[in-house]
Parts: sequence; structure tokens; C-alpha cells
Amino acid sequence: MNKLTIEDLELKGRRVFLRVDFNVPLDQNRQVTDDNRIIAAIPTIQYLLDHGARLILISHLGRPKGTPSEEYSLRPVAERLEQILKKKVVFSPAVLGPVAETAIDCLSDGDCLLMENIRFFPEEEKNDTQFSKDLASLADVYVNDAFGAVHRAHASTVGVAQYFDQAACGYLIKKELEFLGTITEKPTRPFCAIIGGAKVKDKIQVISNLLDKADTVLIGGGMAYTFLKVQGYQIGDSILDEEHISLVEETLKKAETLKKSILLPNDHLTAASFSNEIEVRTVAGDIPSGLLGMDIGPQTVDTYCNEIAKAGTVFWNGPMGVFEMSNFSAGTFEIARAMAANGGTTIVGGGDSVAAVNKANLAAKMSHISTGGGASLKFLEGKPLPGIAALTERN
Ligand code: AMP
Repeated sequence: MNKLTIEDLELKGRRVFLRVDFNVPLDQNRQVTDDNRIIAAIPTIQYLLDHGARLILISHLGRPKGTPSEEYSLRPVAERLEQILKKKVVFSPAVLGPVAETAIDCLSDGDCLLMENIRFFPEEEKNDTQFSKDLASLADVYVNDAFGAVHRAHASTVGVAQYFDQAACGYLIKKELEFLGTITEKPTRPFCAIIGGAKVKDKIQVISNLLDKADTVLIGGGMAYTFLKVQGYQIGDSILDEEHISLVEETLKKAETLKKSILLPNDHLTAASFSNEIEVRTVAGDIPSGLLGMDIGPQTVDTYCNEIAKAGTVFWNGPMGVFEMSNFSAGTFEIARAMAANGGTTIVGGGDSVAAVNKANLAAKMSHISTGGGASLKFLEGKPLPGIAALTERN
């Protein structure tokens, strides 16, 4: 990646606008229940503070849709950040105007301030020009470390960057791009990609693009049934994405042309309705009507785990079944275990797969867990990430 990083910047005494991804889950008492995303930004925050920057942290939280509300306030995140950093974090309920400006003026070198949720402003998601200019006027230098938001062209991730002489990335973005870059440019082979989840539309482009890079693509989850249907199998009452059948056909043809293997489940855990409370039936091959495929079956688990064991590089995104239900979580957890046992490069790409890995206590066994499911998928689709494109090129 040929972009400025924080190590290229003059920092002492300078006001740094740092876009972070503090979009963390909160419980009913507004306590942070998972601080992984805050922790992931600490190396960058610490580096900037240690080098005498006056730090202004900007993030979004949830989807407040341009309206301020207590529910989506970042105040609890400021408290958690203060505990992690063991240092005062000023919280500014204002983002622009005299209150915010005074808070920034009061910062000394090595101090930090967290602004209120940037998505309280409708201009943020519109990437509004004036709003971007106003945000840029608050600081001297721009740093983006919000990997989870780089696939979105918003004011704080894209618009603002052009108004700074220097716009650099932090350590988290650097690390995420290094891992994703390695698997797409020079993976240790065989490279096995596992793609699951329910929506064909969200993943089909990734599968198609990965066929150029990976040796084997394993498909699980609800979307596998559209692939199986195209291949002529009966899928009973399993979910079928009729709208995207032609994309699935194209992808299967591409695999044939490239002589790459797309593996599909050959047995399934099924149920008569979408429920955890009824009998589970293991079905091989065709699924009779009246039954829904809910998870990959034991033979498929064996086949997929053998592929993972042989691989030098493994990328995984998306559950193999309805893993939220205990009867149908085995396939997903077996994939997590097989990856944890693999001695090569293992990357888990966001969302439900990360939740499964954390639940199985296997996070420490993976080479990399992405903090941005959407961003990593977009990268693997081969599409540009606007938040990265907006950063200053290194000469
Ligand atoms: P996605 O957002 O496309 O990654 O899909 C994730 C969701 O897919 C999870 O909530 C799973 O419960 C769901 N899912 C996985 N397998 C199936 C299946 N066989 N039938 C219906 N939903 C599924």
C-alpha cells in the first residue's frame, strides 16, 4: 500500500483528526459489552499520544440516521477508552461550533478528546462538502484507522481528507490491508476460502473474485441451497434466492472454466420448520419437501475440515448454518476449530464468523480477525475502498 502512515507524520503539538471505528455493542445499561474494536485502535492512539499529538477522535455508533439520541451516544465509549488508556479522555457532546472548538483549544500535547457520534449529523452519510470542510478546520492532520468504515464514502472517512495536506492511515488499517493483500497477492497455497451466510447477493461477487485467487472455495449456510438448486438437487423448503440464480450459474461456469473447485454441502441437518425446538434430521443428497436445510451435515463437515487442514491459507466469512440455534451451530463451530488447528495463515472476515470464533474462545488461534466484515468483503470483491483511496499517496 503506497499511502502515508502515522509514522510519516510530524505530530508534536499538532491537532490530529483520528477517525476510528468505535461502533461497539452496548447493553441496556449502556455499558460496552465487547471492546474489541476499541482495543484494536489502541496502538494508533498510543503512538499519536506518545508523539505529542493533540488527539481528536471521531467515530460513528449504530445507525442513528442523522438524529441525535442518548441511545447512540458515544459517552460510554469515552469512559471505557479512559479505563483502557489509563488516562483522561475528554468527551465533547458537540462536534462543531464554539463548544467543540473550546474543548480542542484546551488540549495539551498528548491529550485526547472523543467527539459525539458523527452520524448524529445527516451530512456525514451524504459526504457533504461544507460539513467536510468544517470538520477539517478542527485539526491540522488527518488519520484514518476505522477499517470497518473504509468501504463507505462518508464525510469523516472520505470528504474531510482532501482538506488536509496529509491524510494517513493508522496501524489497524495497515495491518488489515497487509493480511488481505497477502492472501490476494501471494497466498501460501493451497488457498482455501470458506463463504457462508444467507444472502447470495452479498457474497456472490466475492466468491466470483476469489475463484481467481483461491484454489478451493467451500460454500455453506443458506446460500448453498441456491447453488445446489442450480446443480439440479432438490432443496425442499430451504431458502432459495430466485432473483440471483443467474449470478450463481455464472459463478459455477467460471469455476468450471478456471478448473477451480467450488465445494457444496452433500449432507445437511434439516428441520420441518425454522425452529430449534423440533426434531433434527440428517439428510444426504436431495432434501425432500417439508424439510429445511439448517446446517451442513457431518460428512460435509469432514470434507470441509480436511480441505482446511491441507490449506496454507484460509479465509472465512459467514456461518455454515443457523448457528444462533444450538441444534444448527455445529457446522460453524467445526469450521472455527479446523481453522484454529491449521498452522498456516488463517483470516476470519468479520460479522457472524467472528462472533462464532469468539464464542468458541478461538480468537487467539487465528492469524487475523478482521474488524470490518463489509470492508474486507469489498476488498475481496476487488473493489476500491474509498476511505483508503482518499489518503495521501507516499512519494
Ligand atoms: P449473512 O448476513 O448473509 O452473512 O447471513 C448470516 C445469517 O445466515 C445468520 O443469521 C444465519 O442464521 C443465517 N443462515 C445460515 N445458514 C442458514 C440456513 N441454512 N437457512 C437460513 N438462514 C441461514
